[in-house]
Amino acid sequence: CGIVGYIGKKDTTKILLDGLKELEYRGYDSAGIAVLKDNKIDVFKALGKLINLEEKVNSSASNDYHLGIGHTRWATHGKPTELNAHPHLGEYSYVVHNGIIENYKELKDELIEKGHKFVSQTDTEVIVHLFENFYNQLNDTTKAFKNTISRLEGAFSILLITKADPTKIFFFKNGSPLIVAKGNEKEEVLFASSDAPLIGLASDVVYLEDGVGGVVSANSIEFFNDNYSWSTLPSSKQFAQK
Ligand code: GLU
Repeated sequence: CGIVGYIGKKDTTKILLDGLKELEYRGYDSAGIAVLKDNKIDVFKALGKLINLEEKVNSSASNDYHLGIGHTRWATHGKPTELNAHPHLGEYSYVVHNGIIENYKELKDELIEKGHKFVSQTDTEVIVHLFENFYNQLNDTTKAFKNTISRLEGAFSILLITKADPTKIFFFKNGSPLIVAKGNEKEEVLFASSDAPLIGLASDVVYLEDGVGGVVSANSIEFFNDNYSWSTLPSSKQFAQK
């Protein structure tokens, strides 16, 4: 239902939780964040209100993560449970997803046959396993992510992080909204599924078009399907700074 993402030097868990609060009005049944530091990913998930997630984060998260992704879920496949809440884990990567993967059953069967173990009832979990399946073969995160996208059918906006490439966030937009923005601080990137979480924090804001994906790090953005850079982005818009 709602997506946020952050790379930067501010308090990552706070930015993600504040961003999810801005998306609360859209409704949700559970929420979660995955945050990365030094090649270690911590994940926090909770059923119900964001305050439940916040309490878990505040009691055990550290405060020096350098990137992270977050999600508020409105269940379409699999009951609203903590296990079905996003982010979903493969073995070393996490994904958040808005929308529906229409062909998830066939993908799931294929991946189970290859030895992947699934723990949730969601359509989303296939994305991260598909990514790791390709990464294990290709040893190239960008190629693995592109191959993953090419196998997905339906409407989906995705953010993916992985220990295999711990300074980057991979993204794709198809059907559900997704915005990528350059933060006001140096070496800062934000993602959100609507502009509310970005107000006051971002300068260059890009409403991604369907079929657009790429990979960002603190100081670079690469689009897979075109040669955009921060300065030549399509439908780029300046946000008023607070
Ligand atoms: N289809 C996914 C699920 O049921 C994502 C739902 C959403 O957009 O929140 O977990």
